[in-house]
Amino acid sequence: MGHVPAGAAASDGRPDMTAVQAPYVTAFTGEHVALNLAIARHAGAMTKARLSYRDPVDEDWMFGALWARQATNRVGDPDFRALHTLRQRECMLGRLCQVCQGSAADPSSGRLWWVWPAPVAASSAVLSKPPTCRACIPKAIAACPSLRGSAHVYTSDDYEPRGVVGHVFSDVGGVLRMQEGLLPGRLWEIPLDAFRRLEYTLARALIVRTWGLRREHIPRPGGPTSRCNADAPTIDSPASAALGMGSGSRASAPSGM
Ligand SMILES: [Zn+2]
Repeated sequence: MGHVPAGAAASDGRPDMTAVQAPYVTAFTGEHVALNLAIARHAGAMTKARLSYRDPVDEDWMFGALWARQATNRVGDPDFRALHTLRQRECMLGRLCQVCQGSAADPSSGRLWWVWPAPVAASSAVLSKPPTCRACIPKAIAACPSLRGSAHVYTSDDYEPRGVVGHVFSDVGGVLRMQEGLLPGRLWEIPLDAFRRLEYTLARALIVRTWGLRREHIPRPGGPTSRCNADAPTIDSPASAALGMGSGSRASAPSGM
């Protein structure tokens, strides 16, 4: 879906962490926009209709789901409990660091770096928080209370999109109703092969499945300190198993509408 511009950028185009003091994926309070949702007829949909906006454009859809619109100007205050939907998706699709927007791949091995506040039991995991590059991991640990006490660093071979976290709607006599979710905030995890359900989902984050996870030592620190999103709600994910999205996994949900 292309580049999501950030309001504060260093000369190389990446966010200036010393200026914004917030990770790239953090949502800002001024980025909220009215969504004006609707049900619209669509010949390609399984029910010949789908969730839409009143002024839709093709770029509003990906993986069969409508994606929540947000401004991308980083205006207002950073909300460290919320991931920005489009920047989260950009990081996941591009294998970019959630803190600095740089590549999350190790320059020498090509493996992707992750840091979590809890260990992962299996060699694969289902995740909605993007990776964190090697250089940003010490900064994230220093900035985040949940990581300072318990930081677990991994690398993975790679990952692939597996689903979305989002709100699911139904059309009740022409009135849109949001369905109660399995995750806090009425959120659901919807696999990418649940085509009919995706057509009525407002996606808030892209979920990926990693493989080849390997425990790593915490990288040595360097560079400026920044805040991080590791304090955003992290959910043990019974919904993942219920929806056939695997076990031994954790998924963290974005917050806010
Ligand atoms: Zn980084």
